[in-house]
Amino acid sequence: MKSDDQTQRGWALETQLVRGATERSQFSETSEAIFMNSGYVYGSAEEAENSFNGTLERFVYSRFRNPTVAMFEKRLALIEGAEDCRATASGMAAVFAALACQLNAGDRLVASRALFGSCYYICAELLPRFGVKTELVDGRDLAAWKKALATPAKAVFLESPSNPGLEVIDIAAVSKLAHAAGATVVVDNVFATPILQQPMKFGADVVVYSATKHIDGQGRCLGGAVLGSKQFIDEKFTPFHRHTGPSLSPFNAWVLLKGLETLEMRIARHCANALEVATFLAQQKQLSKVLYPGLDSHPQYELAQSQMSAPGNVVAFEVEGGKSAAFRFLNALKIIDISNNLGDAKSLICHPATTTHQRLQPAERELVGITDGFVRLSVGLENPQDLITDLRQALAA
Ligand SMILES: *Cc1c(COP(=O)(O)O)cnc(C)c1O
Repeated sequence: MKSDDQTQRGWALETQLVRGATERSQFSETSEAIFMNSGYVYGSAEEAENSFNGTLERFVYSRFRNPTVAMFEKRLALIEGAEDCRATASGMAAVFAALACQLNAGDRLVASRALFGSCYYICAELLPRFGVKTELVDGRDLAAWKKALATPAKAVFLESPSNPGLEVIDIAAVSKLAHAAGATVVVDNVFATPILQQPMKFGADVVVYSATKHIDGQGRCLGGAVLGSKQFIDEKFTPFHRHTGPSLSPFNAWVLLKGLETLEMRIARHCANALEVATFLAQQKQLSKVLYPGLDSHPQYELAQSQMSAPGNVVAFEVEGGKSAAFRFLNALKIIDISNNLGDAKSLICHPATTTHQRLQPAERELVGITDGFVRLSVGLENPQDLITDLRQALAA
């Protein structure tokens, strides 16, 4: 590498996205190389011994570290402004490892209730099986956080904006309360992406991503990442990651590195398209509710404006007439695909109550606004007028 980490931290975002942490091999390739290997060889038995006892820092096994994966980790850490990063095989592996690596039986976890279905499962069902005491709160209500964090807690977990209800949480206020309670704050930043919101600037300790979403952004592979202080990564996260093995494939790391190169420009277009689509949807009488953090009708519009540099690409709305009307609408779309993925170049729409959030009890769905007519639209990179035409004809049907 021609420039060191310190120099690269001074680069502007666009430069970091394209060049950050590029490490060329002896062949001087332009694009990042894919090191598709599981193991590494040692010149001597002594070198192997020293690599395992920590006196020599080098690659020893791709479950621990790999050169292509390390480039992705270092580049994402630069972009996020985090001290360190570890990549995982999926976003859920990142969420689970970030929590499980620090929670013990008897510890309290306080989490916002409005979560992606699998995040909800981990917090509300899986971790309690191992003795973690989870308390769910309405993330928008600071009084609820205050009450829950009046008792010491080990960790706080939240999504902002949340999937799929687009609830926005005051990260700075919650982090302050959490730290006073002794908790580490873990933020799932998938909807905002590292381009639009950097939770650590507001006091969060750990940030997790599903890189499957916008970071790849082209529907090709799964991936995830956990970012935090060097101390958190070294002492809490790495031992868990190393021994339980949710490691990212070098090939997927390479796809994600390529995704990062275009992330900023894709996100800018995603947001511009989403605003146009949301503005159109807000004028449609068949929709009883349109949620987009970039519309001043969003209940936390001001907070979203102050916390995010742009409102993201997901728009959620409620079709009048419940499940049958929502299904009729989805089935009538000609361009927008029915899919539970998001952050893709292709616009994707889903019905959370029967897909991503079907496991939740109806009462829990009700609490976070996932009604039978509720749909989530991830606005892609197509021409927004074509998307609006498609939405208009499907609403007429
Ligand atoms: C998709 C998603 C995840 C899970 O990511 P995978 O890569 O699918 O495992 C976690 N959190 C949020 C908010 C998501 O949207």
